[in-house]
Amino acid sequence: MDVKENIQRWVRPEIRALSAYHVPPADGLVKLDAMENPWPWPAELRQAWLEVVQAAALNRYPDPTAGALQATLRAAMSVPAAAQVMLGNGSDELIQMIVQTIAAPGRVIMAPEPTFVMYRQIAAVCGLEFSGVPLSSDFSLDRGQLFAAIEAWQPAVIFLAYPNNPTGNLFDANVIRELLTMTEGLVVVDEAYAPFTDASFMSSLGEFSNLLVLRTVSKMGLAGIRLGMLAGDPAWLEQIDKTRLPYNIGTLNQLTGVFAMQHKPVFDEQAGKIRSARGELDARLRELGSLTVYPSEANFILFRVPEGRADALYAGLREAGVLIKNLNGSSKALQDCLRVTVGQPDENGVFLDALARLL
Ligand SMILES: *Cc1c(COP(=O)(O)O)cnc(C)c1O
Repeated sequence: MDVKENIQRWVRPEIRALSAYHVPPADGLVKLDAMENPWPWPAELRQAWLEVVQAAALNRYPDPTAGALQATLRAAMSVPAAAQVMLGNGSDELIQMIVQTIAAPGRVIMAPEPTFVMYRQIAAVCGLEFSGVPLSSDFSLDRGQLFAAIEAWQPAVIFLAYPNNPTGNLFDANVIRELLTMTEGLVVVDEAYAPFTDASFMSSLGEFSNLLVLRTVSKMGLAGIRLGMLAGDPAWLEQIDKTRLPYNIGTLNQLTGVFAMQHKPVFDEQAGKIRSARGELDARLRELGSLTVYPSEANFILFRVPEGRADALYAGLREAGVLIKNLNGSSKALQDCLRVTVGQPDENGVFLDALARLL
């Protein structure tokens, strides 16, 4: 039998229907597409880190629960004493573990859309239904539609990115609280952009047994080590932890994570710089006149360009050496939309100048 027939026969239809998560090459470009922290580590920090990792016992398996790293992350992220935590190879892996824990035929995963695409992708890989509930035109939660969808679908898990990606806004915390009491499923509040906002559900963990809070170190400046943290009720975490593969956090990542959290003020200062650069970038984008700029509590800004011009502007920026994210065509709600990550001030300047020229 040839490969095509074999694939047709054996690969699950929901996998065949997926397209792989595409990451465009960024060589030599000003990279403003992936919500990375643009600031490198200070030289003395790098030196001190090398001394830590050079002592690593790489012949041994890592600490299976990454106890030291758990303790430092708990403190750094103000996890309430009553909550339990577990770690993942990026928060993406934790999303996968949550979904695997409840995956069974007929179960539904829900999220407002547009949002982070991995919720839908992971639900599909695990063979589950996904119900995407449209956000309002200003990207706020459509309370009526969301609550009706929960009644109708009885989702096992609802994912809420808070702030939301790719829109940048925070959902109404009162609606989220209402939703936590009315749904019988889990509610995962994904706080990937916590370093760039004052809002958080972390301190509410004791109040709702069905609330899980997801964090990552990726956006604060450690995207390269792939490390995420899930916090929630110990009884729930005990179950979810059973889906975790042994030793999922490598020794180098454990050491690096602990070291970085011991120097958290460096990352806090960088996050502060990103927040103020976000304000400037937002103001300059608005000055360009022809754009709709959406308010952001994250380290990126979503904006809508004049009708029909998004693809050309994206390509023009790329030609000018700037890589951002083109969301045009990904859904109706994001038609004509582009998303730019907040970079260093000079990078933001290169982007703004190029965009102004192209408009
Ligand atoms: C970037 C992002 C993540 C993924 O984080 P990793 O820890 O790098 O896997 C999760 N959720 C949202 C909403 C994101 O934007």
